[in-house]
Amino acid sequence: MGETPLLQLNHLSVQYGGIQALHDVSLHVASGEIVTLIGANGAGKTSCLRAISGLIAPAQGSMQWMGQDLRNRDAAQRVRLGLAHSPEGRMVLAQQSVEDNLKLGSFVHRADKVGCQQSLDEVFQLFPRLRERRAQSAGTLSGGEQQMLAMGRALMARPKLLLLDEPSLGLAPLVVAEIFDRMRGMNAQGMALLLVEQNAQLALRLAQRAYVLESGRIVLEGKAQELLHDSRVKAAYLGA
Ligand code: ATP
Repeated sequence: MGETPLLQLNHLSVQYGGIQALHDVSLHVASGEIVTLIGANGAGKTSCLRAISGLIAPAQGSMQWMGQDLRNRDAAQRVRLGLAHSPEGRMVLAQQSVEDNLKLGSFVHRADKVGCQQSLDEVFQLFPRLRERRAQSAGTLSGGEQQMLAMGRALMARPKLLLLDEPSLGLAPLVVAEIFDRMRGMNAQGMALLLVEQNAQLALRLAQRAYVLESGRIVLEGKAQELLHDSRVKAAYLGA
């Protein structure tokens, strides 16, 4: 591979007390790429995203962002560098309005008022439903709308890479289709995505490349199209 990847993980391990959640994980995401990380419950997918965004510190290994060591960068600095995280469970502030939740996402760029307003307009363009509900408190949104809000809030940071944790969780198929359609749209504008998904079928159809995590280790990796037809992936993750 000639080009420096946007994000590179080298031999990363994550531990919670005595529990080792990730062992020796190496992966990369190239600029503009969609990569998915699939695996069963408890495989370590969320831990991997949390380590990348700086919410937890790895026990071992290193990470590079555009060739630069991320070790001494805290979570806010990583957002500023272009890494944004849309977490599992959405984590919207229920009492606050949709618009205030979105504005929190542009906190690191708060000095740039014009840029923040422009980002807000772009998010509203991508998710017109959020514009209609901009004054509504986030806790009263539907599950799908809350997912759009979580994604919109991450987009407010104007990321080069968006980390998405389980965007389809608990949503009706039509809403999931809409969310996946938006991901395609963001990617078409040049944003790279690292997608963690329980729905391996959908994730592998969307992504260019994929990694399979089992008990904290990467056991398979390759082109998403190829993994979609891999007998081991079919048996373990794609159902009958
Ligand atoms: P799921 O799909 O169920 O969300 P996951 O693949 O995202 O699972 P993680 O949430 O990363 O998996 O968890 C990996 C392992 O680390 C699990 O065994 C989990 O119980 C453990 N773990 C996660 N967070 C903590 C924590 N804060 N303290 C202790 N153990 C943890």
